[in-house]
Amino acid sequence: MRTNELKITNSLETVKTGINNDANSSKLQTYKRINPTLAVHEVYHPRSNIMIPDYKRSALTKLRTSSHSLNIERGRWARVDADMRFCRCKKNKIENEEHVILECELTRDLRRKYEVVGYTSLNEFFAIHPLEDVVNYTYEVMKVFV
Ligand SMILES: [Zn+2]
Repeated sequence: MRTNELKITNSLETVKTGINNDANSSKLQTYKRINPTLAVHEVYHPRSNIMIPDYKRSALTKLRTSSHSLNIERGRWARVDADMRFCRCKKNKIENEEHVILECELTRDLRRKYEVVGYTSLNEFFAIHPLEDVVNYTYEVMKVFV
């Protein structure tokens, strides 16, 4: 293993340890729900043979790292209780990552377009659904919630 690869591997292990040890951060808990094994997603893998534009990869990264404008985050900035950060679909659901990707009425047509059906968790969706559709679907969903 080359020195740079070793440094990156050690840095990733440090980050993983930090994430696993910080049980109080709700952002980290969200990230662990999305990526419980803390694995590097295929979209970031340099051997991926699918050409993914950076702006679409960025949308996926923002969703996975809670760097987005969903009400679960906006409410954090405005100090709204987490159980009051409702979705713009007006269905009395919390506007979080799982809701907008897996069940929101505002993204129903997109789910139909990209055949996003039957998933019970974001982790399952990100792990199983075809990569190109994960990226395109997530990109389009995030445009709904700007
Ligand atoms: Zn909704």
